[in-house]
Amino acid sequence: MAGGSTPMMQQYFALKEQAGDCLLFYRMGDFFELFFEDAKKAAGVLDIALTSRGENDGEPVPMCGVPVHSADSYLARLIRAGCRVAIAEQVETPAEAKERARSEGRASKALVRRDIVRFVTAGTLTEDTLLESRRANVLAALAPLRDEVGIAAIDISTGEMALECVAPEGIAAALSRIGPAEVVVPESWPEDMGTLPEGSIERPRTAFASDEGEAKLKAIHGVATLDAFGDFGRAHLAAAGGLIAYLEHVGRGDLPLILPPRIREAGGHLAMDEATRSSLEVTLSASGTRKGSLIDCIDRCLTGAGARMLAEDLSAPLADAGAIRERLEAVGWLYDDALLREDLRRALRALPDVGRALGRIVAGRGSPRDLGQLRDGLGEARMLHETLQRIEGLPALCQRLLPLLAGHGALVELLTRSLVPAPPTERGSGGYIAEGYDAALDELRTIAKNGRRAVAALEAKYRDETGIATLKIKHNGVLGYFIEVPARHADKLMEADSGFTHRQTMKDAVRFNALALHEEASRIAEAGGRSLAAEEAHFEELVGHAIAAREAIAATAQALARIDVTAGQAERAAEGGWVLPEIREDTTLAVIGGRHPVVEQALAAGGERFVANDCTLAQQDRLWLIGGPNMGGKSTFLRQNALIVLLAQAGGFVPAQSARIGIVDRLFSRVGASDNLARGRSTFMVEMVETAAILSQASDRSFVILDEVGRGTSTYDGLALAWAVAESVHETVRCRCLFATHYHELSRLAETCDALSLHHARAREWKGELVLLHELAEGPADRSYGLAVARLAGLPGPVIKRAKTILDKLEKGRAETGGLGAGLGDLPLFAAAAEAEEEQCDTLREALREALRDLDVDALSPREALEKLYELKREAGQGAD
Ligand code: ATP
Repeated sequence: MAGGSTPMMQQYFALKEQAGDCLLFYRMGDFFELFFEDAKKAAGVLDIALTSRGENDGEPVPMCGVPVHSADSYLARLIRAGCRVAIAEQVETPAEAKERARSEGRASKALVRRDIVRFVTAGTLTEDTLLESRRANVLAALAPLRDEVGIAAIDISTGEMALECVAPEGIAAALSRIGPAEVVVPESWPEDMGTLPEGSIERPRTAFASDEGEAKLKAIHGVATLDAFGDFGRAHLAAAGGLIAYLEHVGRGDLPLILPPRIREAGGHLAMDEATRSSLEVTLSASGTRKGSLIDCIDRCLTGAGARMLAEDLSAPLADAGAIRERLEAVGWLYDDALLREDLRRALRALPDVGRALGRIVAGRGSPRDLGQLRDGLGEARMLHETLQRIEGLPALCQRLLPLLAGHGALVELLTRSLVPAPPTERGSGGYIAEGYDAALDELRTIAKNGRRAVAALEAKYRDETGIATLKIKHNGVLGYFIEVPARHADKLMEADSGFTHRQTMKDAVRFNALALHEEASRIAEAGGRSLAAEEAHFEELVGHAIAAREAIAATAQALARIDVTAGQAERAAEGGWVLPEIREDTTLAVIGGRHPVVEQALAAGGERFVANDCTLAQQDRLWLIGGPNMGGKSTFLRQNALIVLLAQAGGFVPAQSARIGIVDRLFSRVGASDNLARGRSTFMVEMVETAAILSQASDRSFVILDEVGRGTSTYDGLALAWAVAESVHETVRCRCLFATHYHELSRLAETCDALSLHHARAREWKGELVLLHELAEGPADRSYGLAVARLAGLPGPVIKRAKTILDKLEKGRAETGGLGAGLGDLPLFAAAAEAEEEQCDTLREALREALRDLDVDALSPREALEKLYELKREAGQGAD
């Protein structure tokens, strides 16, 4: 980049302005170059060399670059690091640029015109190499409208789009369910409309207008009214408008595949907030990876599309008994018929990702291989149709899927006839249209083939004529065909009457042309060019057919994914000895022999056995207070029951001997203490915010698990809060609830709350060692065994010993003051604490007395006396702390 305002720099700055805060990939030959701050940022993220090129205002211009042929992998890393990238391509050849400059009457060196051809952002990827096959990649747009917020979400790799409407305080929960890679919002978001996720992208407000959204959806789907798709509200349409406008912006006017949107009704699904979702580690484990999450433990899908659908099922389990039973019936059917299941899974194993191939084709980035994937996928769907339709007593879900698997006969036949068995991902060198599909193309290919044969014959002829056995006819992209001889033989061909013309001298070889070769090469090149053009025309035509059938193809892809999910769930159930849950409309939750799937799997890997436990909640026994030792398995028990509900309502079998589940409308999990310092909340604040949400949002049909509420504050504040929360859950919310606590005092609640019962995780001390049985039993816990667990954890002996002394004192205090029934001053922990304080004062008094007694006052100088006084005062002060 030379000079302050060279044409190139002007062009760069103009493009950079359009790119805004995206990194600009500026195409120069075989590289995408980045300059200035972009270069510094990209070099850091990509760990590539930062160099410089020319000067700007007397300063060197920082630069770095990535090769075009491997740009995808660099893009992937930049996107993962949260960057967005604008791709500026050369949109004319140097020859065209020269011609343009001449026609514009400019003598100066022509600068090739460049344009931003697209933006690459986390939410708008379609490339196979940039996407994870088992994870949806979602872009979401939010539109505030009066007192609600419209949310539009699309996975543009498959075109699936959903619209919903939430209250401002429901944004976080909705987004945690959707898990978008990128969120778009109108600029100047009103503060009272809820908190936006970090990194949301602001776009002009005008794009988020409902009439715009409506017009765009109608235009995309070629309909006069959207009624057939659903009953859309203004907020839905405003969000759709913002979403589509953003897609137009990043695609520079080209839109990806957008299927008719479906409305996501509130209440149709088991609601979970962000905290619940993350504490249950549904799709991501606590460490933020898929490994260790629920989905990782249960996913037996054989296709990426199936895995993506399973993730959606688990993220948004159903709340409608009919719909759940329909899924369960189908899973049960394949669970029972292992042979059929294996047959289906064999077919699924070979299935390409039809939805994503279609997405790329519609987005204009399709390859011959994508067409081949449609052919294979749709062909396989037809075979599955054949298999399934012969079966009697097909479950309702499969009957519904059946017609979606058929059809596409003409398209499959066309693609089978037209494409080679394994079409390439690149179409630049042709060779993907099958022989016999187009006679004219075949002829061109024959000409080219004969030409190549003729060239081979010429090589032999020239060797004979020249006597140079090492003479070769070669081909490259720059020279085309040429004759090459080692340098030491070149003289012979250089002679004027040799019939060869010199083309290039290399270090060890010299290259020539000859008339016959030139003629043959021209024939080959012409036939090659024409056959490429013919293949290109066929490709466009085939793409046209696929695009015309896009909705039906997408429906088939989804039907295949549903079959994969169903067979995968059956497989997982068979593998783990899981059972079909009975779904009920009441408020029962009776799980016999329940297990935590993830913990069970982890234990099994270490050769250990998981201890199954029952959970039998009912209207008259809806709140279980669970005590017991640390590490006793309380949290695990709480979570396993929440997961069993979630799995059942997602339509899968559950890890238990039997399960009767009254449909849960909302699932809440408040497990463990977690800081959210990034959002300015301490552990205790997070705990209370989540508890408040439960008390205000849970209904009598909800299921709540509360683990150690009150742990994050002082003993008495915590106990008081835990007590009041348990009472409120029992008296006011009246939901099913498992409440784990170490506050033994809470067991007194059983005296006043008739639907509350006491349970504990069993443990034994044997020969001074703690034995955790991980077994739940009725009745209050006798102790927490905290010290025994601390010993197991390796706390130093003296500390354990000291803790034991303090514990004995505290427990003595409790016994003397008669427990919690008395007034606040009489509460055992206060009394015990006061006693402990008294004891501390005694110790201090004794220490001071001793120090004074040992002091030889006569031997002290006035200065030493003063220092001693300071020292004693300091000790007394420390003791007071
Ligand atoms: P704390 O009170 O300290 O939070 P806890 O009672 O909640 O402890 P968990 O965290 O549920 O205990 O369990 C501790 C460990 O015990 C688990 O990580 C698991 O390895 C093991 N465990 C829990 N439940 C079982 C079970 N049912 N069978 C076998 N092992 C179990």
